[in-house]
Amino acid sequence: IFVSFEGVDGVGKSTQVERLKEYAEERGREVVVTREPGGTTLGVALRQLLLHDGGDIAPRAEALLFAADRAQHVAEVIRPALARGALVISDRYIDSSLAYQAGGRELTQDEVRNLSLWATNDLLPDRTYLLDMDPAASHNRLEHSEDRMESAGQEFQKRTRQAFLDLASHEPSRLMVVDAAKPIEKVWNQIRGDADGLLAS
Ligand code: C5P
Repeated sequence: IFVSFEGVDGVGKSTQVERLKEYAEERGREVVVTREPGGTTLGVALRQLLLHDGGDIAPRAEALLFAADRAQHVAEVIRPALARGALVISDRYIDSSLAYQAGGRELTQDEVRNLSLWATNDLLPDRTYLLDMDPAASHNRLEHSEDRMESAGQEFQKRTRQAFLDLASHEPSRLMVVDAAKPIEKVWNQIRGDADGLLAS
């Protein structure tokens, strides 16, 4: 089973990823938690370039670097784990590329989707939890954040949030929107309710 978590920065993805991991492990599942960008050795180097050292990266170059990160991630981590029967939980996946690389920048969604599907040999998550909240609220959680992407303005975060919501409305069977402004326990209960079905399948 392949699950991804998506949403703008500061919505609490890592907390919910941890909850799901513990929950599934208690039920005897092998769980592999991973993330993008940076789920492999190559990915860590790409992450450093993308977020810190790459300078002013052109949109097409940026899309290719994220796609390279994902290609390596799928080949090295995700597919082998799925083949073993593990639950794979990825903090970000294709929808982040669709929302960030195609949202408000010069690339179209189709271009970015095709690139990602090529990079992954068409691997999509079985379920994607979109943690949604007003960027003005999530902003408070990011005071200490310094990387290039996270310092992007709130307008950008708002556009990205909308891009995620649009993705969810086009693919409601895969993407589940979760109101991340609610208390952590409530957010988790909603995810757990859905994950129970996935884990039973
Ligand atoms: O979630 P995490 O902090 O690891 O993401 C790092 C940054 O990379 C985020 O600020 C996010 O905006 C950006 N990102 C992106 N495109 C992706 C994935 C992440 O712009 N495909």
